[in-house]
Amino acid sequence: MMIDLHTHTLFSDGELIPFELVRRAQASGYTAIAITDHMDASNIDFVIPRIVKAIEALQPHVSIDVIPGAEITHAPPEMIADLVKEARHLGARIVVVHGETIAEPVLKGTNRAAIEAGADILSHPGLISIEDMLRAKEKHVHLEITARRGHAFTNGYLAREAIKFGVPLCINTDAHAPSDLITQERARLILLGAGIDENRIESVFESAKSLTDKVLRRSNAQSDKKEVHQERA
Ligand SMILES: [Zn+2]
Ligand SMILES: [Zn+2]
Repeated sequence: MMIDLHTHTLFSDGELIPFELVRRAQASGYTAIAITDHMDASNIDFVIPRIVKAIEALQPHVSIDVIPGAEITHAPPEMIADLVKEARHLGARIVVVHGETIAEPVLKGTNRAAIEAGADILSHPGLISIEDMLRAKEKHVHLEITARRGHAFTNGYLAREAIKFGVPLCINTDAHAPSDLITQERARLILLGAGIDENRIESVFESAKSLTDKVLRRSNAQSDKKEVHQERA
C-alpha cells in the first residue's frame, strides 16, 4: 500500500525508463507513484510531455495510479514560481521543488520560494525555518520525509518540528534506481527512525493519500475538460 510521490527516470538522472519503474513499483506493492524528474528551464518542455505520453499509454494497463510530475531542481528562487506554473501548464499533476537539503549547496530562499509558488511537495527541505514551516502549513504544501541517503540526515529535525506545528508531511523515496523503491513497512520504519510516534505514522500515510486523491481529481477534471473541448471542436 505504498504511495511514492517523488521518483526519477532516465529523463533526468534515474536509471529506469517509466514503464520499468512503474512495473517495479507495482511489484513492490505500490498503489500510486509520481514520476518527478529533475527540471529547470532547459528541459522542462522536453521532459514533461514525454512523461505524460508514457503514462497515458501505460495507465490503462496497470492497476496502480501513475501521476506525471516534475521536480524543479536548483532553480534560482526568483524563477521557481514561473517554473512551477509552466510545469503544471505542460501537464505535471504533482510539482515537487528540490528543497534546501544539507547534502547539496541548494540556494537559500529555495524553500520559501517553493512554498509561495504553491508547489505540492517541498522535498528534503533540510533545516527549514519554523517560519517557512508555518507558511507551508498555511499553503498546504507537504514537507517530505525522505528515504534517500544524504537528504535523510535532517528527517529527525523535520519530523519533530512539523508534527509540533501540524505541518502536512509525506514520505517519498526519491528513487533513482530499482533498489531505492521501498515497501510501506520500510517506510514505516523510516518514519519511526525519524522519531515519529507509532500512533502518528498512519497520519503521514493518510496525508499522502489525500494529496494523491486531490491530484487525481484534478487530473480527471482536466481530462473531462479536454473531452468536452474535443466534442465541441
Ligand atoms: Zn531533490
Ligand atoms: Zn529527487
